[in-house]
Amino acid sequence: MLSFEQALAIVGEKVSAAKPQRATETIPLEDALGRVLAEDVAADRDYPPFHRSTRDGFAVNSAEVGSAPVTLERIGEIPAGQHFEGRIEKGQCLQIMTGAPLPEGADAVVMIEHTRPLAPRIEITRPISPWDNVVRRGSEASAGSKILPRGRRLGAGEIGLLASVGRSSIQIFVQPSVAIIPTGDEVVPIERVPQWFQIRNSNAMMLASQVKAAGGAAKVIGIAPDEKEELRRMILEGLQSDLLILSGGVSMGKYDLVKEVLGELGAEFIFHGVAIRPGKPLLFGRLRGNFFFGLPGNPVSSYVTFELFARPVLRMLGGEPFEMPVFLRARLAKPFRQRHRLAAFMPARVEMQAGGATVSPGGWPGSRDLGGVGAAECVLVLHPGQTDMAAGGL
Ligand code: AMP
Ligand code: MG
Repeated sequence: MLSFEQALAIVGEKVSAAKPQRATETIPLEDALGRVLAEDVAADRDYPPFHRSTRDGFAVNSAEVGSAPVTLERIGEIPAGQHFEGRIEKGQCLQIMTGAPLPEGADAVVMIEHTRPLAPRIEITRPISPWDNVVRRGSEASAGSKILPRGRRLGAGEIGLLASVGRSSIQIFVQPSVAIIPTGDEVVPIERVPQWFQIRNSNAMMLASQVKAAGGAAKVIGIAPDEKEELRRMILEGLQSDLLILSGGVSMGKYDLVKEVLGELGAEFIFHGVAIRPGKPLLFGRLRGNFFFGLPGNPVSSYVTFELFARPVLRMLGGEPFEMPVFLRARLAKPFRQRHRLAAFMPARVEMQAGGATVSPGGWPGSRDLGGVGAAECVLVLHPGQTDMAAGGL
């Protein structure tokens, strides 16, 4: 059976090789948080656009203050948002504020703290080097240079950068659409009072939220019964989305029909089964050009397999490059014991402290199924063979 790393690498390769062509759209910058850039963005002018003072002080020619203390004639002042028409000549300085452009003839700014008023002159008390307290024109970006690449997901910082280069609208990739099909005769809508032998359809809401968090647009097709005709109809409807996610019906039970129906429709099965716990029966394949996942129906299994496998696909379909997830080392908050020798993944809460992170598996004791997903900030991985771990272990 494939290991987690092998299976995920296959997913990455297959989806990259399919070169998903993403539609793009242009939206106002204010709506762009969390979206993925579909264009390289260049600086519209030099940054900074002028030699900019980073201090309140006096603009000088540094060569003239090499033998400080010296006194200079103050010929005026230049606040931020204005510019000085003339130039400073020998023996002169100009009072300047943070953010203002350096006048002609000056190449440095002396901090006000290093000056003394000797009206009408100014005494400079320390020597200074060329370009001290100045950010030179074009030193952060020259006009036309790339400042953000296509494929970058936009956070608040990137949006600030786009705003500074004047991009009030921006070209982004259309969000990938994901069809979600929960399956199972026992599964009923959450609005309905379930009979004692029925289970509420919690997975659809959970998976739709996971899709949203990963930058996709989810559409729940409906609850498919364990019956081929209706399941087939829903799968065909789901193919209108970019990615199809089924939950349940991929194990070895007599009524686990998902694989059979997909096969009858001509699906290519890329793998069925990964050496992980939970999530061993995970199914991945392609049908009529669309990738699909069959996630095991247990809520913890669905949650974990989505995070591990479907989320990277969704990010690729959204225009980002494929990346293997990064796992960080953390301390266990309480002792943990597992009997199985498969790599174990579980929803967990994580607490950041000075000196590192501490994780605790989700849920309360003995509640891995129900409570497990109720405490899911990250996915905790235990390697095969890590069967008995004390609290505080890494
Ligand atoms: P299955 O993978 O179909 O064998 O289902 C495994 C377990 O997950 C069973 O106990 C199901 O009742 C439960 N289950 C399946 N689908 C859902 C769902 N949509 N919401 C909540 N639980 C589910
Ligand atoms: Mg089922």
